[in-house]
Amino acid sequence: MKILKRLFILFFPVWLVACTTTPTGRSQFIMISEETAIAQSATAYVQVMDDYNKKGQLSDDKALIERVNRITGRLIYEAIIMRPDTKNWKWSMKVIEDPKTVNAWSMAGGRMALYTGLVNKIEPTDDELAQVLAHEIAHALAKHTAEKMSVALATSLGVLAVSVATDNRNIATGASAAALVAVTLPNSRVAESEADEIGVELAARAGFNPHAAVTLWQKMSKESGSSSFDFLSTHPSSDKRIDRLQALVPRMMPYYEEQKPHPVYPL
Ligand SMILES: [Zn+2]
Repeated sequence: MKILKRLFILFFPVWLVACTTTPTGRSQFIMISEETAIAQSATAYVQVMDDYNKKGQLSDDKALIERVNRITGRLIYEAIIMRPDTKNWKWSMKVIEDPKTVNAWSMAGGRMALYTGLVNKIEPTDDELAQVLAHEIAHALAKHTAEKMSVALATSLGVLAVSVATDNRNIATGASAAALVAVTLPNSRVAESEADEIGVELAARAGFNPHAAVTLWQKMSKESGSSSFDFLSTHPSSDKRIDRLQALVPRMMPYYEEQKPHPVYPL
């Protein structure tokens, strides 16, 4: 609590002045700067991956890792064209061996994770998996992760969630703990719509079929009753969302149909 209070005081003046705009034109309040969010996320990412490594949960499935990196690499290539300053990000992707967890997330600065449960339970095609990963990249591009870290720092929910998310109070403190908490917080409906729109475009530009966004969410909602769906708890779905994605498809098809090479950003 002391740390939180100190951070709150430290960042309060920034909160008062920091009102930024997302790529879709919505203004957002950000209590910590994106630079701070990226730096703290880097620390949190190393800690959380180190933890998974110690538990033997970093996947060594070469074929899966190669598949995920190839798809993610094509998306990152387009993300850097969409937002050129992100070429300085330390883009990373890790596959976590956890067959029960249907989830994927991104932290500020392009640090991502995919859980094997999503691959095993949803059985996505490459086009569908690209939609999940592009959606996560879109959250990072639109600074939603910095926004959620601000929420984690500003509310008492953060204090509770830190101990839940880390299992270990020593693992992270202050803002890097907020980075861990942020990946467990649900996105607002507005942030979800933004990430859908940016994500489907990103995937289409990288040569992945926009129709797959619709079939992915259909599969998600069909499977949602049967297992622990962390992804759905942070990305609430509804029939409306599927309708909205369907409506996006015609506008995105020209990007998909453009005949061009799709370079892979090396991961
Ligand atoms: Zn989302």
